[in-house]
Amino acid sequence: MASDHQLETQLMHFAEDREKYHGAVVPPIFQNSLFTFENWEAIDKAFEDRTNNCIYTRGKNPSVSLVEEKIALLAGGERAKLFGSGMAAISAAILHFLKPGDHVITIKNIYGPTNNLLNTYLRKKMNIETTYIDGGEATEFESAIQKNTRLIYLESPSSAVFRLQDIAAVARFSREKGIKTIIDNTWATPIFQKPLAMGVDLEVHSCSKYLGGHSDVVAGVVIGSEKDIIEISVNEFELLGGKMAPFEAWLILRSLRTLPIRMLKHQENAMNVAAFLESHSKIRKVNYPGLADFAQKKLAEKQMTGFSGLLSFELATRDVQQIKNFFNALQIFQIGVSWGGHESLIYAPAISYLKELPADQFKNLGISVGDMRISVGLENSDDLINDLEQALAQLG
Ligand SMILES: *Cc1c(COP(=O)(O)O)cnc(C)c1O
Repeated sequence: MASDHQLETQLMHFAEDREKYHGAVVPPIFQNSLFTFENWEAIDKAFEDRTNNCIYTRGKNPSVSLVEEKIALLAGGERAKLFGSGMAAISAAILHFLKPGDHVITIKNIYGPTNNLLNTYLRKKMNIETTYIDGGEATEFESAIQKNTRLIYLESPSSAVFRLQDIAAVARFSREKGIKTIIDNTWATPIFQKPLAMGVDLEVHSCSKYLGGHSDVVAGVVIGSEKDIIEISVNEFELLGGKMAPFEAWLILRSLRTLPIRMLKHQENAMNVAAFLESHSKIRKVNYPGLADFAQKKLAEKQMTGFSGLLSFELATRDVQQIKNFFNALQIFQIGVSWGGHESLIYAPAISYLKELPADQFKNLGISVGDMRISVGLENSDDLINDLEQALAQLG
C-alpha cells in the first residue's frame, strides 16, 4: 500500500499481505505458540534476528506484528511492541530506562498503578526516588532535576484531573540534558496528539481504552525508535513475559479500522454532554479540555488536534444520599471502572479513595464525594443528555 495515502485508508490496508492468506479480507489469527522450520540451518538462521523472525509467540507472532506495524504508523513511530496490558507496557517502558539509584520526575495526578509502580515497588526494590510536581509549567520540571534524574514520565492530559504538560518544551530540554521521556497518551490517542513528533522518546497506551474501543480486550503498547523497541523486545518483553495474545491483537486490528471515526464521534458527543453539564444549575464545575473556558486552553490547542470522551464534573450538593440517588438513577450510563469503549460509563472516584484513605487525607486530595467521572460513549448524545437530566432531577 502506497505510503502517501491518508491515515484512514492506511488503517484498512497497510501491512496486510492478503495474497498470503487466500485473499482473506480479514487476516487469519495465528493461534499458535511455536513455528516450525525446514532444518537445522533454517532455525539457526532465524535465531540470528530473533525480533524479526517468528520462532515462539512470547517473542513474535504474525497476528501481533501486523497490529504493531499499524500502531507504529498511526503514532508516527519507527516501531511498536504490544503487551498483555497497559501496565505491562508501562512497566516495561519505565524499566527499560532505569537502573537502581536513578531519579524520576512525574506529575501528581498520574494513573494510580503507575504511581504505585514508581513510588512503592521501584522505590523499595531499586532505590529509585520519584519527585511529583503539578507539571502545568515546563519550568517546574527543570527545577526538579537532580544529578541522577534519568526519566521524566508524562501523562497529558492526565486521566484523573485532565491537567496538561507542555510536551514539546519538556522533551526539548530533556534531550539537551540526556534525560529520557515517556508519555502515557491513552486519553488523547494518536488521532488527537502525536507526542513522538514533539520529541518524546517513548509513547505508551492502555489499548484497553480507545485503541480497543469495544470493552472486550485488555492490552497495552509501547511505541518509539527501532533501537529502543528492539531493546525492550529482547529484554523487558521477552524476559518479563507480558506477551500479547494473537486473538487480542486481532480484536485490536478490527478496532483500529474505526479509530479515526470513533474518536470524532466520542469528541462530538462529549462536547455536547459537557456543554449541557456546564449550563446546569446543579453542577458546580465541569473538567473537559475541549471546553472554551478550560484552564489550559492555549496549551491544549497547541499540542492536541481534538478531545476524547472522558471527562469529570462536580455536583453542587455534598449530601451523600442525594449524590447516590443521582448516580443510581442513570439508565444509559453504566456503572463501572475503565473507559474508552462504545458504551457510556460513570464512576465516582470517591468510591475508591474512601476505601483506601482516611477521611482527612481524602479531603486534602481536592476531590469531593460529588465528583463524577464519565466516559461518553457512542450512543446518541440527546439520549445521554436526557439520561443525565432525569438523574439530576433526583437532586433537591
Ligand atoms: C487504564 C489505564 C492504564 C492501564 O492500562 P491496563 O490496560 O488497564 O493495564 C494506564 N494508563 C491510563 C491513563 C489508563 O487509563
